[in-house]
Amino acid sequence: MQANTLDETLEQRLAKPDYKRWVKAVMCLNYLKEGLEQFAQKASEELYADIVYTTKATPCGKCKEIQYLCSLCKRTKHEIEKRHSFSTPCWKNTDPEKWSDSPNCHWYISKCYMNVGQNSVKDFDISALLNFIINCKWFQMSSLYGNIQSNAQKVLENRNAIIHNAGQNISESDLSSYTGNMLKLLKDDTPPGKLKGFRESDTAQHRINKILEVYFVITPDDEINVRLAAHEKEIGELQTAIQKDHIDFKTRLNNQDSVNCNVTKNIEELRTDVMHKVDTSTFLKSVEAIDQNVQALNVRVEEGERRHEALQKIGKPWKLVVQMVKPIIELA
Ligand SMILES: [Zn+2]
Repeated sequence: MQANTLDETLEQRLAKPDYKRWVKAVMCLNYLKEGLEQFAQKASEELYADIVYTTKATPCGKCKEIQYLCSLCKRTKHEIEKRHSFSTPCWKNTDPEKWSDSPNCHWYISKCYMNVGQNSVKDFDISALLNFIINCKWFQMSSLYGNIQSNAQKVLENRNAIIHNAGQNISESDLSSYTGNMLKLLKDDTPPGKLKGFRESDTAQHRINKILEVYFVITPDDEINVRLAAHEKEIGELQTAIQKDHIDFKTRLNNQDSVNCNVTKNIEELRTDVMHKVDTSTFLKSVEAIDQNVQALNVRVEEGERRHEALQKIGKPWKLVVQMVKPIIELA
């Protein structure tokens, strides 16, 4: 499979139908996520209310560690466990101190059903939202949620196939099957059709259908967002690496002081030499030594400027991170 690299132009990349379909599939996943957000938010609030109703009190909000909980928080923990499809909540994903009295306290409970995630619905990725639906038994209640859980299971499998697709190539039949499953989840045709009632779900279906139209045009912005979504983890790692690199470089800049000292010393020596009218070869050697030190200084200053420029871009939006990747690797 030919790689779809950033050395090619957008036109060159999008001339490959398999790649174009992969971009469309990731775009659909992004819309699907938006379509599920409000539904997941509501479900998370209801789940929280159900747990508090069962334990007859809100968690204390003082317990710091999952291993050392007060009796009330222990009961809450037990209720979270009881509602997990596989009885394996992700405790490292939560913080018992946040189980009460914060606007997003319900998410700190729902996060136990996710793989990874931040603290508000906007921060969760599609995988986190799908895992919430799949791992929480609450969604198995067909009277409340129809087939949402089994539909979400299929979509999660499709999502993994799309995101872990190293060649970034998707066949026509796969795209049609993946998006069919996404639309089925959003459409939620089985009674009571809870997801169907959300406006965001309608919008997401509309957008996905639009992407599937023959004449749909992928813009450079679309493609950048897709690549960012597909490489979120790697970009996070890259950011950490760049920050570390910045610290290393600062250390080296400090070491540069010693080079400066050498240059000063050389100049002093040269002055002494001239005053004592030493022979030509000694004089030339001194000049050469100074030259070398000055050159070393120039290289360091240039390198510093390039790195500074690259680092400046970190503060700017995600888009620029992609453009930054290449120069940073060249400097490494
Ligand atoms: Zn407690």
